[in-house]
Amino acid sequence: MNLGVTIYSSVTESEESGVRVSRQVFGAVATLVVVVGALVMMEGATASAGLRRTSYTAGAPGAGDAYFPYAGNGGYDVQHYDLDLTYTPPAPDPAPIVGQLSGVATIDLVATQDLNSFNLDLRGMDVQAVKVDGQRVREATPPAPGELPAGPGYWQVQDDDARVWELTIQPRPKLKQGQTARVVVTYGGETVRPEDIEGALYGWVTTRDGAMVVGEPEGSMTWYPVSDHQTDKATYSFEITVPEGKVAVANGLPAGDPVTENGWTTWFWDAPDAQASYLTTASVGDYDLRFSETAGGLPIVDAVDDALTPANAATTEASLALQADMIAFIEGAFVPYPFNSYGSIVDDDTVGYALETQTRPVYSRVAREGTVVHELAHQWFGNAVSPGLWRDIWLNEGWATYVEWLWSEATGGATAQENFDAVMEIPADDEFWALTISDPGPFGLFLGGIYDRGAATLHALRGEVGDEAFYAAAREWLVRFDDSTGTTDDFQAVYEEISGQDLGAFFDVWVRTPTKPTSW
Ligand SMILES: [Zn+2]
Repeated sequence: MNLGVTIYSSVTESEESGVRVSRQVFGAVATLVVVVGALVMMEGATASAGLRRTSYTAGAPGAGDAYFPYAGNGGYDVQHYDLDLTYTPPAPDPAPIVGQLSGVATIDLVATQDLNSFNLDLRGMDVQAVKVDGQRVREATPPAPGELPAGPGYWQVQDDDARVWELTIQPRPKLKQGQTARVVVTYGGETVRPEDIEGALYGWVTTRDGAMVVGEPEGSMTWYPVSDHQTDKATYSFEITVPEGKVAVANGLPAGDPVTENGWTTWFWDAPDAQASYLTTASVGDYDLRFSETAGGLPIVDAVDDALTPANAATTEASLALQADMIAFIEGAFVPYPFNSYGSIVDDDTVGYALETQTRPVYSRVAREGTVVHELAHQWFGNAVSPGLWRDIWLNEGWATYVEWLWSEATGGATAQENFDAVMEIPADDEFWALTISDPGPFGLFLGGIYDRGAATLHALRGEVGDEAFYAAAREWLVRFDDSTGTTDDFQAVYEEISGQDLGAFFDVWVRTPTKPTSW
């Protein structure tokens, strides 16, 4: 993600927002305690209800990430999502900015335990039908805590205050560990402009001319049933039907030409690389689609809104023209580009930030050069290797910011050292330093320190281990955790292994202590 600000202004912004956010964090922790307490009560009540002893249990309603306890789910591993969507954007002004979405999600999964029931995350959409391996599962009344319906059934919990949005499916027959299952969920509803825990727009953000779809951290559940955590990566295919004249752009490459019939056009996309749910997009708008490729033959698909201002269009065109050079630059420093395609979606509406949606980042109103290299760098740092938990977000944003610094230096701008020095000029008593970047809390994911202290950490690490070990360890990190996730501890272990140095004190000072590093 990129907030679209320079280093200097992001530092200023974090100084202001740091105070505001630290108050919110207290409230967030209190909320999480209540929610987790309720979850434990539910599970305790279930266990004590004296149900028939069996190895078949309920899959967990979360992936075990304390920042977002109900994001993702336990008990299964999704292999593939096939999303068949039909979308009607809002009517012209002054109609409200509300769209209509209907979908059929076909989800191929493997049970990782004997499952009596399992959950998917789905927010603000009404489920109309569920099938598991062709067997219809009927809607059931949500059971009271500690009780479970005897037979098959599905039910939804939509608790906006507690931020719990769960679809529970209890199939019959039950699913045995190791068994594959095909789950088909038919659903739909009005689309609005959902907000994340901080109040920022995310998910299926309805726009006047379509939708801008950006899911970090757990907003993909606003448009399809999903195990919404990066620890369960899967491949995707899309069939998106929109009114004729609208363009729907998703991850990966077109899987055939669009088909127009009776005033509707269906767009087909296929994303065959393992992908975290928050990196999924299916944006809809008045886009001009352009196809090109890099000198190495990597396909590039750009979708640029035809309503950008002339100044923004000119900036965007100049930045997107650099994408192939930027890919070559990052490949030269690290490892080959990890996916089957690239390209950008530039929308004339705004969510106020850009997001590195896999193979196809989304930009608000304009794509600036620094932001474009930032979102591109995330394809390696964040997308191919994703954070193990949301507390590890600095590994995404620190690296993407550091690659911005490297690109700046390589193209005649400020050097990495100059950018590092600018960060280190921030006084020790500034709020900027009062952030433990390896555990910033759910309201601290996108504070300036995650970006700029994260990048400064990497620059200091480079000085600590030397250029050769710095780049060799980065390559090892990208290879070892490709298509997967890694934590801060994993990252430290790779750097210790490759450099042969004990980096415990270094990482403690830089990422685990909420004060300005002075010696390391
Ligand atoms: Zn970013």
